[in-house]
Amino acid sequence: MNKSKDFLHLIVENDLKLGKYKEVVTRFPPEPNGFPHIGHAKSIYINFGIARDFNGRCNLRMDDTDPTKEDTVYVEALKDAVKWLGFSWDKKVYYTSDYFPKLYEYAKKLIKMDKAYVDSLNEDEIKEYRGTVTSAGKRSKYADRSIEENLELFERMRRGEFKDGEHILRAKIDMSASNMKMRDPLLYRIRHAYHFRTKDEWCIYPMYDFAHPLSDYLEGVTHSICTLEFENNRELYDWILDTLELEPPRPYQYEFARLDMNYTVMSKRKLLELVEKKVVNGWDDPRMPTVAGLKRRGYTPEAVLNFCEQIGVAKANSVVDVSQLEFCIRDDLNKKAPRVMCVLDPLKVTIINYEGSEEIEASYYPKDVAKEGSRKVPFSKTIYIEKDDFEENPPKGYYRLTPSQPVRLKHAYIISCEEVIKDKNGNIIEIKARYYPESKSGQDKSGIKVKSAIQWVSQKEAKKIEVRVYDRLFLSEFPKGIEDINPNSLKIIKNAFVEPAVINDKEYKRFQFERKGYFYKDPVDYSEENPVFNKIVGLKDSWSKKNKKTPKQLIPKKEIKKRQVDGEVTPMSEDEKKLFEHFKNDLKLNTEIANTLARDKQLSKLFEEVLSMINAPISIANIIANEVARELKVSKALNFGAKEIAQLVQMLEDETISNKISKQVFEEMIKTQKSPKEIVKEKDLVQISDPVKLEPIIDKIIAKFPENVAKYKEGNKKLFGFFVGQVLKAANGKANPKVVNDLIKQKLG
Ligand code: ATP
Ligand code: MG
Repeated sequence: MNKSKDFLHLIVENDLKLGKYKEVVTRFPPEPNGFPHIGHAKSIYINFGIARDFNGRCNLRMDDTDPTKEDTVYVEALKDAVKWLGFSWDKKVYYTSDYFPKLYEYAKKLIKMDKAYVDSLNEDEIKEYRGTVTSAGKRSKYADRSIEENLELFERMRRGEFKDGEHILRAKIDMSASNMKMRDPLLYRIRHAYHFRTKDEWCIYPMYDFAHPLSDYLEGVTHSICTLEFENNRELYDWILDTLELEPPRPYQYEFARLDMNYTVMSKRKLLELVEKKVVNGWDDPRMPTVAGLKRRGYTPEAVLNFCEQIGVAKANSVVDVSQLEFCIRDDLNKKAPRVMCVLDPLKVTIINYEGSEEIEASYYPKDVAKEGSRKVPFSKTIYIEKDDFEENPPKGYYRLTPSQPVRLKHAYIISCEEVIKDKNGNIIEIKARYYPESKSGQDKSGIKVKSAIQWVSQKEAKKIEVRVYDRLFLSEFPKGIEDINPNSLKIIKNAFVEPAVINDKEYKRFQFERKGYFYKDPVDYSEENPVFNKIVGLKDSWSKKNKKTPKQLIPKKEIKKRQVDGEVTPMSEDEKKLFEHFKNDLKLNTEIANTLARDKQLSKLFEEVLSMINAPISIANIIANEVARELKVSKALNFGAKEIAQLVQMLEDETISNKISKQVFEEMIKTQKSPKEIVKEKDLVQISDPVKLEPIIDKIIAKFPENVAKYKEGNKKLFGFFVGQVLKAANGKANPKVVNDLIKQKLG
């Protein structure tokens, strides 16, 4: 399945080629202190995926070294998540706690090698002695304890003779190491706590950095894959395994970028808080980014795996747009889910000239979906339609039912409005309509033109359902936690109606409710008597429209791959990250451009300089991130400065020149060292916005392509772009595209 070769696949492949290992062994090592989230799904996908791709094995290992936070419910949730994603572990579930006796022996071996000692400094002192990134630390006086004394103290620690924090076991490495992790790191601590598996057997617990490499080694792991935060731990990982002089082969650690997603919190601690404070209804609340939440909401494993595949494996952290996850489920269900009719907000329609009843055979899938299946939809005199599919005073461009505009009932007949019935407050409560017997869908001989088809259900046979409409849990793009909660993330509709097949056809669990989105029979609360549906996702990305002026294009797969080229991108520094956030959030630059500028001091400085002269961040950024960046790559320096760029931007902003021409001007600036103004004047590049000048050009084009004009008028609206392009070309790129657009619209109708 995983055909693309990310850097991890390449490493494994190479190791096998060199004969370094006979078999690839990976592991997924979660701490059972919370439900796994979509980030863990990525890790599962990577670890189990690699094992599968190379015919190796992957262990599911519970990293249970912190007794105070761990629990079996989390173990079960982790097992569920792995299984749901379609993976299986080798033989049994492993636990770090199973190795406690062995780890204890390894610790004693280190002491005997004079590579570890019992320290008795308190927590604050340990911190102080560690030093800083710029200054060396100093070693505790207890480091001089003899091997015998250390052994005895360590054994007494294990027997429970001391209180929490009284002593600690540390590796003896180097208190002035530039890598802070190597400054005599802690190996074991005292913790008098009940462990969910080993009960009260232990009161000392190994630290992650000690337990992890050794657990990997004991399980015969070959590639220990973790997230980037552990990059600095790698040296210690190696030190532990090498110092103990273990029999080869030994595992090596590799790091990849963790998944981070906007509008989402991705830490078990924060998710736990949402659960504990009852902001959500438990770990499997369909708004949660947990695997259990996604599963309950109606996501398919295929969609989640596809998402993992799309985002790829990179060595640089980045934020993934949550709409990409939503895209994946929409994409999956578009092909799979039967399409049925549901009315969420019913308005009664009485068809005055219809008597009796009939059943209409209707396909579950449109023609372009290669799937078969159909159901019978009852039709009768009284139906429900969606309240907002009728407008008494329709705005322009309203294509559904109005007093003067008929509409098609999907799969059935065309109806027109005869009378609008209102209650005493003036609310519309019923429509009296007329249907056209000749207009039946698929055999329409009525000749009536309609502009759209709407969903409906027959009142008598329709089933009442509850619909839980979920929206994003957080309002802010980078939520900190509870304070950013979207108060409207759950809306419960109690009075929706579906056609009977949705309840009766038990084969299906997920549906597309026509024009409304994808819905799922809630796996916990659904029953035939009390049908409950979860909204999985809408048909379109409504958020990008709400929040951005132009709807956002989904980042195509290929582009994502290109961006996350293995290891080519280095992580941003703190300063760069801050700058990036500022560009993106305050100045509204797009992610790609913000990224380019933030990572390059020369570019970002120039950007700020120009910005101080003219307030047009987006135009400036576009020029600097594209034109300037390209030029600097070739010639290392510009022969003009911020002032000239500001002048160019100014001409763009006041529409003296078009976007296209600005690039030409830029090229000239480099070649001639003339100012943009001069160039535009000399070359006569001023944009043409005057309709009087543009009209003749447009007329010429229209006369030149009569066939396309005819096709366009017959409804092939895609040709609009063709005409715009032709006109712009004929005007040597100088025509104002906006004006050209308007004029063509006027002329072609
Ligand atoms: P969190 O910080 O969300 O609580 P964690 O890192 O503490 O998660 P662990 O149980 O230690 O969770 O993680 C198990 C495995 O999953 C580790 O290998 C870890 O690197 C990986 N992992 C955790 N979060 C992510 C993520 N956001 N993206 C990718 N992998 C992740
Ligand atoms: Mg962790």
